[in-house]
Amino acid sequence: MQARDAAANLDRQTYSTMNLKKVVIIGGGFGGINLAQKLARNKSFQIVLVDKNNYNFFPPLLYQVATGFLEASNISYPFRKFFQDKSNLRFSLGGFEKVFPNEKKVVTESGDICYDYLVFATGTETNYFGMENVRKNAVPMKTVQDALALRNHILRLKEEATRETDVAVRKKLLSIVVAGAGPTGVEVSGMLAEMHKNIFNKDYPELKREEVQIYLVDALPVVLNPMSKKSQEETLAELRGLGIEVLLDHAVKDYQNGIVTFANGNTIATETLIWTSGVTATPLPGLPDEALGKGKRVLVDAYNRVKGFDDIFAIGDICLMTADKEFPNGHPQLAQVAIQQGRNLADNLSLWLEGKSPTAFEYNDKGTMAIIGVNKAVADLPGLHFKGFIAYFLWLVVHLFSLMRYRNQVKTLYNWMVAFFTRDQSLRFILDSKPEKPAH
Ligand SMILES: Cc1cc2nc3c(=O)[nH]c(=O)nc-3n(C[C@H](O)[C@H](O)[C@H](O)COP(=O)(O)OP(=O)(O)OC[C@H]3O[C@@H](n4cnc5c(N)ncnc54)[C@H](O)[C@@H]3O)c2cc1C
Repeated sequence: MQARDAAANLDRQTYSTMNLKKVVIIGGGFGGINLAQKLARNKSFQIVLVDKNNYNFFPPLLYQVATGFLEASNISYPFRKFFQDKSNLRFSLGGFEKVFPNEKKVVTESGDICYDYLVFATGTETNYFGMENVRKNAVPMKTVQDALALRNHILRLKEEATRETDVAVRKKLLSIVVAGAGPTGVEVSGMLAEMHKNIFNKDYPELKREEVQIYLVDALPVVLNPMSKKSQEETLAELRGLGIEVLLDHAVKDYQNGIVTFANGNTIATETLIWTSGVTATPLPGLPDEALGKGKRVLVDAYNRVKGFDDIFAIGDICLMTADKEFPNGHPQLAQVAIQQGRNLADNLSLWLEGKSPTAFEYNDKGTMAIIGVNKAVADLPGLHFKGFIAYFLWLVVHLFSLMRYRNQVKTLYNWMVAFFTRDQSLRFILDSKPEKPAH
């Protein structure tokens, strides 16, 4: 511990003699990476970005990795490659453990780091609402590892089904329940349905397509809760048209021994429960309880300063800002909010350094979209609503442009073109050597 303290002190002295302000950013998702890249243009700052992974990734397309339509590398990019041409930006691999605000120091898995300014951009983690069996047995959809584990899991069960002679067991192996009818749940169930429609008979001649059933379940009475009524109704009709059984007002209560039990007493037998039902803020040990609000999100002012501190900030999904007059209950947990907060904070840190007044954050809502299947999507843009191919095309363009910063857009476009024209992508690999979950 003494050696770690000595390293942190030496580190602090080095930066103060160079007269640079050291900004430590924990988390390199949408918020963290946009903050780091913009702030790095100001050479008065020395920036360290800490992340538990060595790559940034693009969550909106995780479900396409999970269903074998895209490669993981299409939606991921290594931090060190991002930062190659940034002389005042360093990457440190390791999970955040604790902050010591009085010492202006964070403890991470790979050592202690001191700071002048600290920014939390750690996002959220899957929320199982205290249901331990669901946590143990369901498959989440939050990380690249989750997406690959889901792909392995589904493909492995299909192989098992080809050898299974008991009809009931085979049905259980082939049934998939997706819990959570928000954009992620809609997108993953839609893509699984497309996969079964276009690929299943060709890949698995031993099996009958009628034995496959995909369920999309939600505790609420609607799908795509945050979107317009029009989008909700169109999506529900499209999902049902794809053969998905949509069960609304169905709150999952338990999942064990391959049985999903709902609060209303109904059950479904399945070896696959995909959990996209909720998120909760990642824990930030060292911050006082008074700094935390609803859902353990960190309370921040209009400049993303954490309540009670003027040198600690939080941006993106992890924070709760009620000062934006259009969003008195806080912003939606969306990529655009995190991106815009990251960029605004980069500007404000520079303004503070120059002794100028900072700019209060105001979210510029660019709308929301969800894809349901090939050629099927809905888009609610300010004052406009699109559906079908136009919405699908818009979705493709927006996501492709967003991926441009990964410099992977050509590969991604190629994979999408193959998927679009052949409806038969060839990425259905089982890439681990042992089952990730015991069969029930
Ligand atoms: C499957 C899925 C689909 C989505 N689709 C959409 C969509 O279509 N449109 C949309 O607007 N939003 C979508 N979202 C939401 C969007 O991804 C988030 O709002 C956005 O990622 C929030 O950005 P952030 O920077 O706050 O956090 P994140 O992007 O989640 O980044 C957090 C970063 O912190 C790192 N981290 C976490 N904990 C630690 C720790 N202890 N130590 C070190 N590093 C840590 C993580 O590795 C990660 O790099 C989706 C989310 C998911 C999961």
